[in-house]
Amino acid sequence: MVCAMLNKLRIVLVDTSHPGNIGAAARAMKNMGLEQLYLVNPKLFPHADATARASGADDILAKAVVCETLDEALEGCGLVVGASARLRRLSIPQWNPRECAERIGAENSSSETAIIFGREHAGLTNEELGRCHQLVHIPCNPDYSSLNLAAAVQVLCYECRMVAEAGFTEIDSTEKCEPPATADDMTRFYEHLRETLVDIGFLDADNPRIMMQRLRRLFNRARPNEVEMNILRGILTAAQNPRNRPRK
Ligand code: SAH
Repeated sequence: MVCAMLNKLRIVLVDTSHPGNIGAAARAMKNMGLEQLYLVNPKLFPHADATARASGADDILAKAVVCETLDEALEGCGLVVGASARLRRLSIPQWNPRECAERIGAENSSSETAIIFGREHAGLTNEELGRCHQLVHIPCNPDYSSLNLAAAVQVLCYECRMVAEAGFTEIDSTEKCEPPATADDMTRFYEHLRETLVDIGFLDADNPRIMMQRLRRLFNRARPNEVEMNILRGILTAAQNPRNRPRK
């Protein structure tokens, strides 16, 4: 039971500069019983500093999945949470680590969950945050709010372990029957949505960013399931067909 929740949880580190942080994150994960480490474009990996800081968690490093893009790392994930050191202007909903762990524990879908962590010097970009259903912020001194990357991984893995040990079972019954669309379905949907909005003259193809960010936020909040996603894609396909447009 403890394993089931933790096994479905991916820790995704984006563009990590210091290999020592990758090793320390692997150690934090193994201490708490997590195994799935995804590395998006690590600067230096594999590296002796990573192995040294992993200090016995080298099995986690050995099976870490190295990806070129965040999309690859999120493939198959039904819930994506971004860990952010700053309170963001973008009003993506935000949890604290305890709420975050409880919500992950309450997921009952066959798909996996990812928590993504940003670069040491600059965190996650707005584009990357746009992939997230939710943000998680570790409450801390507002004048000094940025934890070391591996320390942030530790706090979140610890909270997840606490929930897993407690055998959290509150389940949203709608999710139980219908799994949420995965991150890759959502990426394809946003591309289709952007294309369609340009086709029907709603979106300025030269300046789509703010509108698309807002729409992502809306649909990420709704977390459509697979059936709903098929309906939305069907609507877009129908809207793209010029024969369906009203005559002027
Ligand atoms: N200088 C960066 C912080 C980078 S710390 C910035 O200003 O955004 C590296 C990563 O650790 C962050 O991207 C985030 O994923 C995680 N992290 C650090 N402190 C955190 C906090 N207080 N809450 C949540 N995540 C945090």
